[in-house]
Amino acid sequence: MINLYGKLSLISGSEVPKGPLTLTTDPNLPEAIAKNYGLISDDENIKTNFKVVLRKKTTKQINTTEFLIPQELNHLEDGDIISINPKTFFTRVLFRSKSKQNSILLTERCNHYCLMCSQPPKEIDDSWILSETKELIKILPNNLSEIGFTGGEPTLYGDDFIDLMRLTKSYLPNTSIHILTNGRAFKDIDFTRKYAEIQHADMVLGIPIYSDDPVRHDYVVQSPGAFSETLKGILNLKSLGQKVEIRIVIHKQTIDRLLELCEFLARNLLFVDHVALMGLEMIGFTRANIDDLWIDPLEYKDKLSQAVLLLKNYRMNVSVYNHQRCLVNDDVMFAYRKSISDWKNEYAPECLDCKKIYECGGFFSSGIKYKYSPSIKAFT
Ligand code: SF4
Repeated sequence: MINLYGKLSLISGSEVPKGPLTLTTDPNLPEAIAKNYGLISDDENIKTNFKVVLRKKTTKQINTTEFLIPQELNHLEDGDIISINPKTFFTRVLFRSKSKQNSILLTERCNHYCLMCSQPPKEIDDSWILSETKELIKILPNNLSEIGFTGGEPTLYGDDFIDLMRLTKSYLPNTSIHILTNGRAFKDIDFTRKYAEIQHADMVLGIPIYSDDPVRHDYVVQSPGAFSETLKGILNLKSLGQKVEIRIVIHKQTIDRLLELCEFLARNLLFVDHVALMGLEMIGFTRANIDDLWIDPLEYKDKLSQAVLLLKNYRMNVSVYNHQRCLVNDDVMFAYRKSISDWKNEYAPECLDCKKIYECGGFFSSGIKYKYSPSIKAFT
């Protein structure tokens, strides 16, 4: 697991830069460029003025703002982007230059209250995140291959969400964009039209549907009327040629009708671009609702195979996310992906001598700490 949060210790100085700050390890950047960067270095003879200097060990102070990096953020490297709270020095890693799985949380607010929400909603004004993200977008590398946006529910920003995506397109026209949303905002055709008019070449909305039964879907997301609004949103999006991925999290409340749901998708939403069948993340509300959610993947592996093959037979693009290799049948391997973001991806002690560890997606680190299948068994 890689920590994305930590508290810096002030060594010297008082001027803490506001907003996203790109880090460099190059002490020889030209002065005009260096003044916009934070330098990671333990060199005691830095001549150029950087916005801040981050030290991995305390060294002689120079005439600028200096911080000591805590152990948990020692992974910071060239090209990473951080944000430092000027009062508390609490630091968030907004972007990791070597990662292909950077994701930006846009808000903690949400109009769903999903039983297994990994990011429990908060009724707060966190619109400062949107402002910060606008600044972040402007300094991301323009050759970035992919970036994700998540929440909460990003579309609660309304037109400000559209503006952010427009900005993203202008700064990152060649980057694959993935947005997690419950899709309900797109029931409004005018809103959907504004989104479609952005015309980013590779922008996908990941939208969950948890059952073909509206009552069950609404129960899982704890919001009456969600199913019909989400469906309407997907139909509006596809009518305007937008890319949509359907996300199904598999647990005790969704497993019973998994095949009916896949049949429903094949018959009614054959035109969506991707279907992801996903394992449960052991964090947030999942822990509070564990008895209502937990089912050992070993118990449903044959049903997972049937679901995958059903979608494949309808020529739908299907993937299996967040599952361990030893808990799925061989016949789903064409759809199996190592999907867990690198910063929260771990393996269990049982995996130590497993011959298939390199093709296995492993676990969420929360799963290793909290609960995972007792049926994990290394391939020998
Ligand atoms: S033993 Fe571990 S590494 Fe091997 S397949 Fe199972 S979960 Fe993956």
